[in-house]
Formats: sequence, structure tokens, C-alpha cells
Amino acid sequence: MYRTHNNGELRLKDVNEEVTLSGWVQKIRDKGFMVWVDLRDRYGITQLIFDEERTDKKTLELAKTLGREFVIQVTGKVIERQSKNTAIPTGEIEILVDKLTVLNESQTPPFTIEDNTDGGEDIRMKYRYLDIRRNPVRENLIFRHKVSMEVRNYLSKEGFIDVETPYLIKSTPEGARDFVVPSRMNQGQFYALPQSPQTFKQLLMVGGMDKYFQIVKCFRDEDLRADRQPEFTQIDCEMAFVEQEDILNTFEGLTRHLLKEINGVEVAKFPRMTYDYAMKTYGNDKPDIRFDMKFGELNDVAKHKDFKVFNEAELVVGIAVPQGNKFSRKEIDKLIKWMQRPQIGAKGMVYVRVNEDGTYKSSVDKFYDQEDLAKWAEKTNAKPGDLICVLSGNANETRTQLSALRMELAERLGLRNPKEFAPLWVVDFPLLEWDEETKRYHAMHHPFTSPKPEDMNLLQSNPGKVRANAYDMVLNGNEIGGGSIRIHDRKTQEMMFDLLGFTKEEAEAQFGFLMNAFQYGAPPHGGLAFGLDRLVSILGGQETIRDFIAFPKNNSGRDVMIDAPAPIDEEQLKELCLKTDC
Ligand code: ASP
Repeated sequence: MYRTHNNGELRLKDVNEEVTLSGWVQKIRDKGFMVWVDLRDRYGITQLIFDEERTDKKTLELAKTLGREFVIQVTGKVIERQSKNTAIPTGEIEILVDKLTVLNESQTPPFTIEDNTDGGEDIRMKYRYLDIRRNPVRENLIFRHKVSMEVRNYLSKEGFIDVETPYLIKSTPEGARDFVVPSRMNQGQFYALPQSPQTFKQLLMVGGMDKYFQIVKCFRDEDLRADRQPEFTQIDCEMAFVEQEDILNTFEGLTRHLLKEINGVEVAKFPRMTYDYAMKTYGNDKPDIRFDMKFGELNDVAKHKDFKVFNEAELVVGIAVPQGNKFSRKEIDKLIKWMQRPQIGAKGMVYVRVNEDGTYKSSVDKFYDQEDLAKWAEKTNAKPGDLICVLSGNANETRTQLSALRMELAERLGLRNPKEFAPLWVVDFPLLEWDEETKRYHAMHHPFTSPKPEDMNLLQSNPGKVRANAYDMVLNGNEIGGGSIRIHDRKTQEMMFDLLGFTKEEAEAQFGFLMNAFQYGAPPHGGLAFGLDRLVSILGGQETIRDFIAFPKNNSGRDVMIDAPAPIDEEQLKELCLKTDC
């Protein structure tokens, strides 16, 4: 038997007990006549003691040869510690060792296995298995496990059935780029890895499964942005005989349950916001509503003076930064420079200081008097001591820029508290979005999303105005989940593909299986998917999803530990018919 207890378990009440422990050597202190070893495993650290008087010579000598990360097994007696360590749960006892076995030696690890390690990101990724031995990484993985288990238990109790769907499927041009897998048995043909199990979960509804969920890997060959993984995990769900309201209530229930069980936070009913309102009020379809700073549109009160910049702008819009009047001129100038970087691309920024006495001082005093500025303050809900920041230009761009400013300032002012949770639903997304490049409409969510019945009549005449039965769940400025009520009849689905520029043949070739299924009694259905990696990192109060993935890829999509992707040999290429001369 390798162990009778783990290394986080023993207490004063166990004194005098004979125990066997196994684990890794965290630290050795050799005083010559006495050696202490900190023995570590997943559960904690227990101190071992070897000394001249009480340990036999051979064992003491062997203890002196131990190195960091050696794997050892010891047998000994639990004794009360002379100098107690209150920082760890086992800190009142130690093990007086009488038998030591080295189970495996270790090279000196390339970085310290401590909470604050000396290893940089790259080296830790290369030796991820050593990184996982560190408390913060291990704790994150255990945290993820807890979230997954809560999700499974909750959904299972609610009657959802976990069904696996295939990973080798067919490539479709919609959405992101597919990862493809060559088929050896069908030369020249390829599978694709699923971007999501979307069509399969719909087919499960046609199959009468009624409520489905799966915690499932999805694959998207997108250009990698910071903190994006080519493979990621979704909590994928679908329900039959539901309307949008049923879905929102069910998954609001799940999220509320998670916040309560995992974070101990009770949240009120989630606010709901239309896409249009979110864009107008926050410049963003995933607003962070932990703080206010709502947009105030100023066209009415800022145009038609002599200020050309505003007069020529499609939109003049501002936010009131709480207590922003404390920013120095220099700080504001810096902020303007920050806004003018190409990543944001603002041309400039007008600002108004709201003084404590209620007077205003603006960067455009030449054009606007106190009465004008009072109207700006009213529209942006500015209070004495605030700073009003105003941008102008093309409406969409300006909103996006102001949204970036809003988030940046909230960050600087410490308003984005990771321990606070502000979930909401964003609903009524547009069904389609126009793509200038390809000069055609794209499905904003995906082509299986149903239009709002009341907008059906616009489908031919004004497709851009049609709203979808689609919704996103937003948490602290992140889209953590999204879904829709689906089309479930062949005719509407055909019409949708037509709108998206598919020929009849293309639609049939790619999605004939789904449209056929719709002809055999498809029930009304809908669902959504959560991004598990992101959800876990937000609940865990941390920024990067990589910290919650056991073996993540780096920013170039590489696994630096196993060194993938990698070339394959000639023979394999030939066998797969990937060589031109095959
Ligand atoms: N399959 C969708 C996605 O991956 C989610 C859904 O509509 O259920 O975003």
C-alpha cells in the first residue's frame, strides 16, 4: 500500500499513529543532525522529520540525498510539532520517519513548484505537467471540475440527457473555418471537426430526445486573438416544445444555481435588454452592467452651434465618468492619445469637467455656454465631480470607440470587480448582417435561427430589419452563452438559405439531411450553448481562459509541450492521398 493518508489530512488528534505517506519532495532543510522534508501531493503538505537520535543512520543519510520533486514513500509516527505552522492545516504535526523509499528520482525542475514561480509562461507551457503541480493551476482545474459537475447535476435533474455527437462530420462553409481531417478509406475526401454540434442537437430533437445537453469540445480554425483557443468547450443544450421564454428561464436557473453554489452569490432576476438598446446605451452587445456610465446621445443639444466637428458628425455621444474631474489635464491628454491609437481609432475627444459647484469647464468653451453644457450633463447623467467624455463621427464606429473608453475607464477606476456578478440577457438580435466584402447577408447567429414571427413579412422586402428569436447571456462584459429558437420546417429553412445566397443545390448538398428531417415531424425547438472555458474563468474571477485549461494551446495555436501541429511523414501523406503524385 502506497499510503494510509494523504498529505493534507493529518492533525493533532492523529498523534502517535503509525502512517504511510507518499508524494513529492517540495523542500528539504538539512541541518546535518536533522533533516526536514516537506512532502506534497494534491491534498496538501506534511512535514517529515529525520534526526540523528531517533532515525537510523542509513535512513537519515538517504534523506540527505533527496532532491526537489523526488517521489518518495515514508512510514513513521505522527508527532506533535515543536514550532507549529499555522499557515497550513497539517502545521501542528510532523512525521518522525523510520522508513524511507525513493519511488522515483527527479531532475531539478526548470522552474520552482511554488505559488509564485520563477518560470515564465513559455517554459511553464512546455512543462505543463510540472505547472499543474503548482497550487494555482491545480486549484483552477479542480474549480473547473466543480463547475462542470454542478452543470451536469443541475441539467440532469432538470431532465436533460447527455448525448454524445460525432467529432468527424462534414465541412460546411457557414461560420468560421473548419479543421479538416483527411479520410484514408475514402481517398480525396475529408471530414471536418465540428464547430459546434448544432445540427446534431437539432436532429436529436427531431428524434424525440426532448432535452439534450453535452459538455463538448468544439473546433474553429479562426485567426487567433489573445485568449482564443482553436479547440474549446461548450455546454451545449437543446430543448423541444419551447419558446424563447422557456429557454431563458431554464438557463437563467442554471446560471443562478452556479453563482450560488460556486460563488455563494445570490442574483436577482436577470435584466433583459434588446440588442438595439444595448448598442445605443453601451455601444456593445455584451455590456458590462456592473457600473453605469450609460451613453447619452447629444445630437439634439450639441449640433447646430458653430462647432463643425459635431455638426458634420452622424452621432455625438458622451459618457459621464464618475469622479472623473479629478483627472489632470495631462491624464486626459494621455487618455485622448490612447483613444487615437489605431486599435481604437478615435479622431479626438471633447471633454467637460463638472465642477463641485455645478459649473462646467469644457474643451470647447468657445462654442458652448454653461446652459448648453448643462444639457449635456443632463443627457449623460453627470454629477458634480464627474468628467463628461464626448466622441463624434459615424454612428457605429463612434459607439464602438466610446464603448472601449467606457471599459478602459471602468478598469482604471476599479469598477470591474471580479467578485461582483452582473448577468443579463441580450435579446432580439438582428437575423442577418450585411457583409460588405462578399456583398451578401450572413446569419448573425447561424442559418438555423428562426426570425421573429412578427417580422416574417419583412424577410423579402427588408431582410436587414428582421429580428431573430436569438439571445445571448452576458456576464460582466462577456458573452458567456448564446442561442436561438430554430427554424423547424423545410420551407422556412429553404427560404433562409436562399436569403443567405445558397443555390438550391448547395443548400441541398450541405444541409439536405436537416431539411429532410424537418419533413418527418420536427417539433418546435431551441437551445443555446455556453462557453465553458470563459464561464469558468469569470466565475473563478480570473482573466485568461488558458489558466483553466489543462493543456492549452498558445497564441499561435501551438501546443508547445507535444510540439503540435507538426509535419507528418511521406508515407502518411501518400496513404492519405495528400501528395500530388498519389
Ligand atoms: N451552436 C451555437 C453556437 O455554437 C449555439 C446555439 O445556437 O445553440 O454558438
